[in-house]
Amino acid sequence: MQDHLLLTAGPTPISEEVKQILSHSMFYHRSEKFIQTYESVTHRLQYWLRTKNDVIILTGSGTAGMEATISNLFSPGDHVLVVENGKFSQRWSEIAEAFQLKVFRLVVPWGKSVGAEALVKNLTAIGSLKGIFLTHCETSTGALTDLEIIIPAIRHQTSALIVVDAISSAGILPLKPDDWGIDVIVSASQKGLGLPPGLAFVALNNRAWIFSEQSELPKYYLDLTRARQSFQLGRGALFTPAISLIFAADHVLSQIQQKGLENIWRERQSLAHQFRARLTELGLSLFPEIPADSMSVIKFEPSVNAKQVHAELKEKFGILVSRGQGQLAQKVIRVGHMTNIGEPELERCLSAIQTILSTKIG
Ligand code: PMP
Repeated sequence: MQDHLLLTAGPTPISEEVKQILSHSMFYHRSEKFIQTYESVTHRLQYWLRTKNDVIILTGSGTAGMEATISNLFSPGDHVLVVENGKFSQRWSEIAEAFQLKVFRLVVPWGKSVGAEALVKNLTAIGSLKGIFLTHCETSTGALTDLEIIIPAIRHQTSALIVVDAISSAGILPLKPDDWGIDVIVSASQKGLGLPPGLAFVALNNRAWIFSEQSELPKYYLDLTRARQSFQLGRGALFTPAISLIFAADHVLSQIQQKGLENIWRERQSLAHQFRARLTELGLSLFPEIPADSMSVIKFEPSVNAKQVHAELKEKFGILVSRGQGQLAQKVIRVGHMTNIGEPELERCLSAIQTILSTKIG
């Protein structure tokens, strides 16, 4: 299998050390050593998510964490507000409707981010609101939701749970759920952690656990209360976990702790800024109004077909970036720089884009 330079918006490349750990012999998940590792990963995830709250590890991709949040904390007919500014934030509405919640959508044009004022206006218009769903980095557009500003502005105006999808932001962008007043954070293994997909994480505060006691929706595999009980009883995971991923998670999380989360946030920010400065030199610009530093969504002139740039990057230069989704299919490419990506890789991508564009213009 030929390896491309993986610059997608997830999954990210994995390190040689992680590859080695993933090839170890299998381990029994009820053994003392594994349970210790499971507990260690759970505690380290609290550091990674900057929270003192319980973190539940689920086997599944990020969407499993999103579904678990809905099915464990809400009931049919509950009123919830979803800020939709792209494909992934729309997923909150789709899941909520699949579970018969009453969804109110605050639709924001793709590429834009919600402001506190619009959010407050919607809060007051909806009666007995139970949940508010936000997406920190909307991976389809690259837009950042400025949680640090928005959440304090709404926190004292509502008793609804504030739920944040941090799947493409945790461990990459500054995120302080406890300080900012977030009740539930959802993330996954294949972006900021630099692991393969397969683990979802849900961090819940005490208010969220109280909501879980009132939830009337059916759940089984993704039952967060039973998962917490299993952990508290010293049994580790509720079901057979993704054992190899847990060992790899322990390794990458210990490296992150050594390096320091704040240093990683700064490093990712500076890499994003350098990359964007170079894009500007090439006459290119970003699609989102407020870009998240996890990725750069590059827009092209109408005369350039972004789908073709994507194809040429892959076929001629061995570089795999993400395509534009939905309405952005012909207009943008999405370049991820979440983890295990540095200046040399981004420079290679820039020079390939430059060559592609020069042959189109010349
Ligand atoms: N939300 C966001 C912001 C994402 O970036 C993704 C993955 N691209 C998802 C949700 C869905 O996660 P998964 O594909 O891991 O289920």
